[in-house]
Amino acid sequence: MDFLENYIDGELIKPIAGKYIDCINPATAVVFAQIPDSNEQDVALAVTAAKKAFIAWSKTTTEERFKILNRISDLIDENLETLAFAETNDNGKPLWLSKAVDIPRASSNFRFFATGIMHFAAESHSMTDKAINYTLRNPIGIVGCISPWNLPLYLFTWKIAPALAAGNCVIAKPSEVTPLTSYLLSKICIEAGLPAGVLNIVHGNGPNCGEAIVKHKDIKAISFTGSTRAGERIASIAAPMFKKLSLELGGKNPNIIFADCDWDKMMKTTIQSSFSNQGQICLCGSRILIEESIYEKFKTEFIQKTKALKVGDPLNEDSKQGAVVSKLHFDKVMSCIELAKQEGGTILCGGNAVKLEDRCANGYFIEPTIIEGLGANCKTNIEEIFGPVVTLQSFKIEDEALQLANTSNYGLAATIWTQDVSKANRVAAKVESGIVWINCWLLRDLRTAFGGMKNSGVGREGGWEALRFFTETKNICLEI
Ligand code: NAD
Repeated sequence: MDFLENYIDGELIKPIAGKYIDCINPATAVVFAQIPDSNEQDVALAVTAAKKAFIAWSKTTTEERFKILNRISDLIDENLETLAFAETNDNGKPLWLSKAVDIPRASSNFRFFATGIMHFAAESHSMTDKAINYTLRNPIGIVGCISPWNLPLYLFTWKIAPALAAGNCVIAKPSEVTPLTSYLLSKICIEAGLPAGVLNIVHGNGPNCGEAIVKHKDIKAISFTGSTRAGERIASIAAPMFKKLSLELGGKNPNIIFADCDWDKMMKTTIQSSFSNQGQICLCGSRILIEESIYEKFKTEFIQKTKALKVGDPLNEDSKQGAVVSKLHFDKVMSCIELAKQEGGTILCGGNAVKLEDRCANGYFIEPTIIEGLGANCKTNIEEIFGPVVTLQSFKIEDEALQLANTSNYGLAATIWTQDVSKANRVAAKVESGIVWINCWLLRDLRTAFGGMKNSGVGREGGWEALRFFTETKNICLEI
């Protein structure tokens, strides 16, 4: 059995209290490793190391930081196979997906911010003949990064890379459900020559380890991605301490399909936006809103294509759907399907657990599920399920589509399908979400602002937004 270790002050060390948490492969239900169940003592040790490291790291040139972060990116590329295999065993997602998306994106995150910091500039405002204002953007100091299990290394590095590029030292905690690739990243950072204490990775659960990071007085900013519930708790601790906060939270994203869409492209992409990663992407469109005139045609073809998605061993090339991340999450998704039935919903396809054979006989697999016949305000259409479950609703006119789309406390992402450019832009402007895709889904340019409104979060990640978040702004006014 592997015992994972914390990465503190440049070394891999055991948790101080000697406690561990089981790490389970969701495709097999087998415990394959133990991860540190760290607490505030481990976090304090990491903060001490980070404070020491910050003195030199904050003074490095952007070119020095570029070189090291770029080296980390190269090493992620070189270890693609190992990292992808670890991600799949930890998370349950198909191996081809880990190889094609998760790990390459983790590498891109480092490369993007390594180069980005070389071009990052601050503003200057001239008051003609009177004064000049210029802005300094200095590293904040020690920052905390906390990430979820659905895109483990992808989202972990999405926070760490800009924080380090901006000259901060970082205390980072991956999800306790999927810690393996972040542990492998600690080894990569050592190999890349990242100075000791610049990045510290502390493993553990939310209440003990995560909250210790949020509460620590020397950690000046928190970048969090996860559930709205945990985000609320984190904000309640960090806000009175006046910490800088970036919260990327849950979603219940509408996918608005008009009759004049490019049908084949819409259908192919809607299958992906519904069920990719077993529906466990915060950007998945879980509420599909379809113009009434094409509702029946859409329903028939969408069911047929969903039924064709093979649920299978994540290690098999032909498995389109792997396992959901844990027993706890499996139970949650299954109870949401039960609730949908009680609310009067009709299960058009799926709705059941999948029993596989051999090594996956005890894994947590769920059929991709489509539900119709539910009102916009019922729990199934309001609360995040975060699994392979979507609902169908029909609308008659554009305003009704918007009203349905905006009947949600969340506001992360929306997708719009129409070939009418004016309509697409009209709807995009009025839909309440931080990200809108027109005639596509999950097409990402890392320079764009990423994040949600309403209960989907506070702040934006990506591009300059991330580098601004991870720097302290100072305006200096000089009278001429
Ligand atoms: P979660 O909130 O349970 O956990 C996320 C992370 O926060 C984990 O590392 C966890 O240990 C930690 N945590 C939990 N409670 C904490 C606390 N009180 N203090 C400090 N840390 C705490 O979320 P999850 O189940 O891992 O992930 C799924 C959720 O993440 C979904 O709601 C999904 O929509 C959301 N998500 C959002 C985005 C986005 O960009 N908006 C991206 C991915 C996932």
